[in-house]
Amino acid sequence: MPAQVHQFLCQTDNFGVLVHDSETGATAAIDVPDAAPYLAALAGKGWTLTDILITHRHGDHIDGVPALRTQFPKAKLHIPAREAERIVPTTGPADALLSEGDRVTIGALGAEVIETPGHTAGHIVYFFPVENLLFAGDTLFALGCGRVFETSMTVMWESLVKLASLPGETRVYCGHEYTQANGRFALTVDGTNTLLVDRMREVDAHRAEGRFTLPTTLALELATNPFLRAKNPQVQASVGLPGADPAAVFGALRERKNKA
Ligand SMILES: [Zn+2]
Repeated sequence: MPAQVHQFLCQTDNFGVLVHDSETGATAAIDVPDAAPYLAALAGKGWTLTDILITHRHGDHIDGVPALRTQFPKAKLHIPAREAERIVPTTGPADALLSEGDRVTIGALGAEVIETPGHTAGHIVYFFPVENLLFAGDTLFALGCGRVFETSMTVMWESLVKLASLPGETRVYCGHEYTQANGRFALTVDGTNTLLVDRMREVDAHRAEGRFTLPTTLALELATNPFLRAKNPQVQASVGLPGADPAAVFGALRERKNKA
């Protein structure tokens, strides 16, 4: 398989991810909370960094970029166009400013840029259609979604709807290992969903062994992630909004999770 993905922890609960094209040797970092774990991962794999792909402007996704660039000065930096003013002061100049529909090439691999405003106003995600890989940053998490800091709930819901339309077999990598806490909340609003109950049993077992719960798949999220299930009658009833507009149900879920 030409695309290899290597996932590892950065800081406490951020993920670092490397995407490697074995055909050309090109290797991309997806967000860089901290350079040291990336340098260790690259050295361990014997890979040379060629590209850095940023999803959004938060420090725990970009703070490691300068130190990583010092070690790999030829690596191209790709960032969301709408957040460039807030990212470049930390990272230095970018090689590509990305918007909806733009394409990023990592050796022989190609990613499509999808804008997903909500967590931040300029958040983007990277979808590799041939490999069915999605790097969702802080928009979609396993059994959860990012906090909505910079847009209305409706805008974030529309971003999640976009991701939900990708193929079910898409493997989803996220910015954080939050699955267990997300799942505990999910059970409070969708506790009769047997797929969710079964999944949480697996998540608890994985975490007890210190294993990651990611990647997930879009099909699994559609079946068990309450933030993608705002049209489901049981989820709607749990927030007292039976039959309501899914964006409103999503907003109520997100507000409730914020207080959980
Ligand atoms: Zn963030």
